[in-house]
Amino acid sequence: MPELPEVESVRRGLVAARVREPVTALWRSEHPLRIGEHWREENLDVLVGARPGAVRRRGKHIIWEFTGPTRLALLIHLGMTGRCGVAKAGAPRARHTHLALRFADDRELRFVDPRRFGGLRAGALASLNASPPLSTLGVEPLDPGFDGAALRERLGASKRAIRDALLDQTAVAGVGNIYAVEALFIARIHPLARAVRLRATAWDRLAAALVRVLEQGIENGGTTLKDFRNVVGEVGRNQDDLAVYGRAGQPCPSCGQALESFTHGGRSGVLCPVDQARPRGGWIR
Ligand SMILES: [Zn+2]
Repeated sequence: MPELPEVESVRRGLVAARVREPVTALWRSEHPLRIGEHWREENLDVLVGARPGAVRRRGKHIIWEFTGPTRLALLIHLGMTGRCGVAKAGAPRARHTHLALRFADDRELRFVDPRRFGGLRAGALASLNASPPLSTLGVEPLDPGFDGAALRERLGASKRAIRDALLDQTAVAGVGNIYAVEALFIARIHPLARAVRLRATAWDRLAAALVRVLEQGIENGGTTLKDFRNVVGEVGRNQDDLAVYGRAGQPCPSCGQALESFTHGGRSGVLCPVDQARPRGGWIR
């Protein structure tokens, strides 16, 4: 599933496409997208006639601002397999295209999503910002001021495994399983340690590690394990730079011990049994 670096790569691709002309028409497939209650009212028609502006990101969401009679926005969630591209209007549409937003320069924003876990929604920018999902999102890990204390304030009372707690988008926005597993390895924290048992120094290491792995992911244009593609259809390169994720059985890049896989809460991960030793008590079996 695309996480913060993949969504940021898509955002940058949309900025680079330099779409400036107003929306002249909109085509939507008849297939519903399946992201859940906050996405049922897509309201995409409000964008016709509006002029595209800044493209922002919040957590795993793209917020493309538009100017119409009021300030509008198109909210995009990539779900599991969602892709955005900007194509010439006459170019053939890929299978599983669900949205084509036509601009006056005869280009289209296209949203393609084979598994349909993504989501699209438009409306007044202010009301989108003030309602779920955006209003529920936690701290942005790449914002200034994100540090161990900020992380501890949000997760320090949690009895959950720290890996699982990090995936809670209402605490920290944008982190998913891959970057959580990577950051915990760099911070030398056992993924199943209970958040409530971590010391202040561990929170500091973890916050710094999150920033490092997310920035590396962006630098590498995202991680492509299977589906992720950027706006021009290219795969990311970060999978080559992952330290432990997907590398169970291989030697730890730090100590050489064989990396081990684990599964908890239906999600797998990888850890080094030496560098991420089980804390005494305080971890979840
Ligand atoms: Zn190791």
